[in-house]
Amino acid sequence: MSKLDSKEPIKVGVLGFGGLGQAAARVLYGKKQMKFVATADLHGYLYQKEGIDAELAIKAHRERGTIGHLGKLSTDSIKELIQIADVDGYFMALPNLPNTFISDVVDLFQALGWRGVLVDALKRTSALELMLLKQESLQKAGITYLSGCGATPGLLTAVATIAAQSYSEVHQVEITFGVGIANWESYRATIREDIGHLAGYNIEQARTMSDQEVEALLESTNGILKLENMEHADDLMLERLGICSRDQVKVGGVVDTRNAKKPLSTNVKVTGRTFEGKISTHTFILGDETSMAANVCGPAFGYLKSGIALQQRQIYGVFTAAEVMPQFVS
Ligand code: NAD
Repeated sequence: MSKLDSKEPIKVGVLGFGGLGQAAARVLYGKKQMKFVATADLHGYLYQKEGIDAELAIKAHRERGTIGHLGKLSTDSIKELIQIADVDGYFMALPNLPNTFISDVVDLFQALGWRGVLVDALKRTSALELMLLKQESLQKAGITYLSGCGATPGLLTAVATIAAQSYSEVHQVEITFGVGIANWESYRATIREDIGHLAGYNIEQARTMSDQEVEALLESTNGILKLENMEHADDLMLERLGICSRDQVKVGGVVDTRNAKKPLSTNVKVTGRTFEGKISTHTFILGDETSMAANVCGPAFGYLKSGIALQQRQIYGVFTAAEVMPQFVS
């Protein structure tokens, strides 16, 4: 019987136990088809094959600063966890700082001879390019890898792919996101990576900024980050499918780091010409009540489930969120 038909839940690990990692743990808590068994942060890891209690783990992390106190303290947590844990698939909720970080973690999985499904929610085009270079080695390693499976890229890129089907020719894909978070410390990597997109900054500067420097920058903007023409992998993902060229894809948005309410409604607009010669725009708007965490972690696990189905058919290598339909985890 295949894993998806079996009554046994898929054993899932979450690498990174920050903003998204903890939200991912909460998302999994409500699922029958997946069981959260493993996680790691910078200072330690936790593996419980019977399943991790998300709220207990979050409380322990909040009180003691690392999940390691509940599991094991380690300076090489990801490596040690991969070696000991029986996991079908991992969601990597890790900072991609530097821009090669997640790529290096994937190399580690391969070097350790691990087999299974890996899902990332990376953002930059250059980061996805690095993953695509691993096509052959991941195929050989027996790893099914789904890349760019968050909200953007991810959910909204998949929506754009579906919307494009009405047209003979796609002229523009415009993604505009609104993110509201109560404080920047809850999503440190996300905010640093966003700062790396601002005029006058790059990803390396954003990585090395002290917390005080980040706070001073946010103070000067009243907590708001306005992002335009971002280097987002949605462009490469859509270009690879022949939907449009990468310069026809625009991504930008507004992040409010002091207010959980979204500053604007996240949407994707897909403009094109139908076979009858009509120019039109499809618009897909996310519900304002849905948080960034819901729109990243939901798709990540939907894609992880699709990855398990591919893995069972011995289909390995790299896929993007625009190439594969996410399943739904009940
Ligand atoms: P965060 O800073 O809140 O948490 C990062 C976690 O990773 C922490 O637990 C930290 O301890 C851990 N970590 C860091 N280095 C580690 C190491 N060497 N070994 C083990 N653990 C390590 O991050 P976040 O804000 O939750 O963001 C996570 C990722 O999600 C970022 O890369 C961000 O860009 C991405 N993201 C994607 C989307 C999307 O739509 N595609 C949206 C938001 C965030």
